[in-house]
Amino acid sequence: MTEKCSIEEINQRIENFDRNYANVLERMERAAQRAGRNIDDIQLLAATKTVPVEVINHAIASGIRLTGENRVQEFCEKYDELDKSAVRHHIGRLQTNKVRQIIGKVSMIESVDSVHLAEEISKRSIAANLVTDVLVEINIGDEASKSGIPAAETEKFLTDISGLEGICVRGLMSIPPICENDKEIRQFFDKMYKLFIDISAKKIDNINMDYLSMGMSGDFEQAIEAGANIIRVGSALFGARNYN
Ligand SMILES: *Cc1c(COP(=O)(O)O)cnc(C)c1O
Repeated sequence: MTEKCSIEEINQRIENFDRNYANVLERMERAAQRAGRNIDDIQLLAATKTVPVEVINHAIASGIRLTGENRVQEFCEKYDELDKSAVRHHIGRLQTNKVRQIIGKVSMIESVDSVHLAEEISKRSIAANLVTDVLVEINIGDEASKSGIPAAETEKFLTDISGLEGICVRGLMSIPPICENDKEIRQFFDKMYKLFIDISAKKIDNINMDYLSMGMSGDFEQAIEAGANIIRVGSALFGARNYN
């Protein structure tokens, strides 16, 4: 749920965002430099769950070009008031019965993890006469509790959905396991990058490998160093989330 805030609180959050945003940009810049990469090749997605729409719109006015929500109901509640000048993605788990509500409102769904979900996005997009970009979510840590396609099944999965109209596969997304240290997380990011490159090289019909979305507040610098070109950052921009 979006937090309901007083004007004072909104202003405080806007101030915090300004400071945090400058800090995140600086850290992105340094990570890109360390990796010999161009900062312009890396998109910062602001993960806006629980963030009031006033604060999101301030972020967009300040330069955020890409936002992502992971709860359909919350996104739809904010949608009318949302500044439409930024690009919107759906991130995180998506129930098939909610696809209809976001088609046309987001340009990309980052978390396709079943043929059934891909088919529903396809069907609803065709009905709306548009094409929805998607990323395939990979369960890079092979965790039983996590959604996503096992890395070993990526090629088969992509081939299975490659014939669907109304969707355009643009790349891969992953949320690696919680790790003890930087070295451990980096191994998962490296594994994802390798998969991304290997799949690109296979040139599967109708499958594009333009985007590799990985890295969040705690690990976006390692993700940039490993080759991510979309990082999804929430709390490092907007502060800790309060779900009360
Ligand atoms: C919330 C969320 C993020 C951002 O998380 P932070 O740790 O706050 O940066 C990234 N990806 C997904 C799918 C999310 O739901």
